[in-house]
Amino acid sequence: MNGSIYWLDGAPSPQPALGETLSADAVIVGGGFTGLATAIHLKRLQPEMEVVLLDAAAAGGGSSGRNLGLTPTPIGNRIIETLAGHGRETTAALHRAGLHGIELIERLCADYDIDCDFNAAGSILIATDPGEGELLQRQARAYAEIGAEAHLLDAGETARRFGAVETVAGLHLPCNRDLHPGKLVLGMKRAALALGVRIFDNSPCLEILAGDTVTVRTDKGEVRTAALALATGGYRGPVASLNRKIRQTYSYVIASEPLSNRQWDALAWPNRENIYSTHTQFWCLRTGRDGRLFMVDATNAHCPFDQNRDASNVPATYAKMSAFFHRRFPRLADLEFKRGWGGKIALTMDGLPSIGRLEALGNVHFAEGYSGRGVLMSQVAGQTMAERILGRELSFPDNPLLDRHRRDFPPNIAAWLGINLTFAKLRRQRRNA
Ligand SMILES: Cc1cc2nc3c(=O)[nH]c(=O)nc-3n(C[C@H](O)[C@H](O)[C@H](O)COP(=O)(O)OP(=O)(O)OC[C@H]3O[C@@H](n4cnc5c(N)ncnc54)[C@H](O)[C@@H]3O)c2cc1C
Repeated sequence: MNGSIYWLDGAPSPQPALGETLSADAVIVGGGFTGLATAIHLKRLQPEMEVVLLDAAAAGGGSSGRNLGLTPTPIGNRIIETLAGHGRETTAALHRAGLHGIELIERLCADYDIDCDFNAAGSILIATDPGEGELLQRQARAYAEIGAEAHLLDAGETARRFGAVETVAGLHLPCNRDLHPGKLVLGMKRAALALGVRIFDNSPCLEILAGDTVTVRTDKGEVRTAALALATGGYRGPVASLNRKIRQTYSYVIASEPLSNRQWDALAWPNRENIYSTHTQFWCLRTGRDGRLFMVDATNAHCPFDQNRDASNVPATYAKMSAFFHRRFPRLADLEFKRGWGGKIALTMDGLPSIGRLEALGNVHFAEGYSGRGVLMSQVAGQTMAERILGRELSFPDNPLLDRHRRDFPPNIAAWLGINLTFAKLRRQRRNA
């Protein structure tokens, strides 16, 4: 297994790099879901606007083209903890923010003819012992408290929907989706170009000079602009104060060959919901339209000491993940996983992202720290940054992620130790579960 990303098979060649000095009404740094959504919303709202997007590599090739394509709200699988820590109103608003993200993707795909294999079957969390079953009951009560749909399934119904392992209960979350992240992000890149956004790939922003006019410098050119949006995801971007709020960790996906009919029968999975284990460091399975399986096992998440080291291709990890799958699903012992890849996750101290502005630098906006749950919130962040740049009323104003106070990570060694000790503790908890 190598690091070639299944979702990006057939991706077009990069756009030419910036090699001159330009002026633009708005510049976006970073061309993942966040940056492309910002660009698209700007052009929809103000078509005559000159919008430039700079990407250090190729727009679409960052985490947005590498993830598992699930659509958790910012709450993720931590509904009980979020309710306890933030209260009912904020938790409900975080959930609504996620649902707004789903609407944005649906509208985007309809308006720009993007087929991203949207699958609306929902998620099922599966419990394999009574303790996990009790946890699902508490989660169901927590979803009810915020008015969100979640249906407890008994052992029989869980087995009817996913019969590949012995389960005692399940929790169906119908609002969840899965999609083909490559088709979505590359479709967004196509749409942005068609709207007239000037995209420059291989154009890393190295420096930002503040003022009434903001100057964005790359290695070979610069753009002067009245408004800037920073959308560099889990990468280390050009603003040190933003980098201190996130810590780069890595997560990995493995992809199988298309399953045979016999293998599908062995999984007994008629509706193809995405399947999560109940652990904080969960494993998760989903299908693709051409009959492949994709898996993330969060126990392999990894935080390197050296934040400049790219740890996105780790074949030993893919082999470990594949061995775990075969232990968990012995009836599919012959299923081969031939592709594996990884990407950056921007972890924050409290596990929640932020959308804000850097007023000291001028009309400069940012969104970062999705902590592994960025598919939906990046769309909301892109719409928000575009509306703010244009001084428009916000479409989703009651978003608890706006302009919130965030803590810096401690210095490198402390952050590295803290995160790795937490990961190790969660791994132990899962082993002992
Ligand atoms: C393996 C994996 C699985 C995941 N699974 C899920 C999932 O199932 N569901 C979910 O919701 N989330 C998931 N995530 C997280 C999700 O992919 C991200 O939160 C989301 O894609 C972030 O989008 P983004 O646009 O902010 O960043 P990115 O897509 O990473 O884009 C950032 C871009 O900025 C560019 N850049 C960086 N620095 C500079 C610079 N100085 N100058 C110019 N450009 C720069 C990069 O080249 C990159 O293209 C997963 C992530 C990984 C890695």
